[in-house]
Amino acid sequence: MSKVNEIVVLFNGYSRLEPESTDVFVSNCTCTLIKGVNGSNIIVDSMTPWDGPKILEALKANSVKPEDISFVVSTHGHADHTGNNNLFLNAKWHIVGQCIMHQDKFPIHHPWTPFELTPDIRVIETEGHTLACVSVVVENSNLGVAVICGDLFEKKEDIDNPELWQEVGSENQKAQYKNRCKVAEIADWIIPGHGEAFKVTQEIRDKLKEQLIKNN
Ligand SMILES: [Zn+2]
Repeated sequence: MSKVNEIVVLFNGYSRLEPESTDVFVSNCTCTLIKGVNGSNIIVDSMTPWDGPKILEALKANSVKPEDISFVVSTHGHADHTGNNNLFLNAKWHIVGQCIMHQDKFPIHHPWTPFELTPDIRVIETEGHTLACVSVVVENSNLGVAVICGDLFEKKEDIDNPELWQEVGSENQKAQYKNRCKVAEIADWIIPGHGEAFKVTQEIRDKLKEQLIKNN
C-alpha cells in the first residue's frame, strides 16, 4: 500500500458558454478519487447523472470497485456534482455540502467543524459559491497538501479574472474571497471545481490577499 494518500483526478471539469450561443452554458465538474493510506477510498464530486458508466470505467482502471468507496463527498448540492452518488451505497457517509448522511441517519454536526474522514483527510466548510459549500483537505498526499475545493475556485484562470467565479454564481462573495485565501494559505495544490489542478505559488496567495482586502 502507498505511503501517501494518492489523489487521482478521474476527470478534469470544464465550464464554458456553448459556442455561438448566448444562453446555453456547458459544464461538468472535476471528479477526483483519493486512495487513502489507511485503505479508505474517497470520491469527490460525482458529475452529472449521465456520467455513471464512465466513472465506473475510470474506477476500474484504478482497481477500485464502487463497493470499495468509503466516503462520498459532493462539495455542494448542484446537479453536476452529485449525479452518481448512489453508485456508492457501501460508503460510511455521504456528504453533500454540509449535510452528512448514512441512509436516514445524520450525525448532529452543527455548527460545522472540520469533519475527519481519516487522520489526515478532512472536510472543511468553504462557503461562497453556495452557503453550504465544503472542501476536502488531503494532507500527506502525492501533491503535498491538496485541497479539492469544488467551485470555490472555478479554474486557475479565475484568479486573474474573478468574473469567471462570480458569473457562475456566488451566494456569498465576501465569504468566497475570504475562503479562497484560507484555502490557498494551506494548499500546495488546488483541485478546482471546473478545471485542472494547479500548484499554489506565493504570487497566487498574494494576489488573492489583495483581492480580499479590496473587496471586504
Ligand atoms: Zn460546479
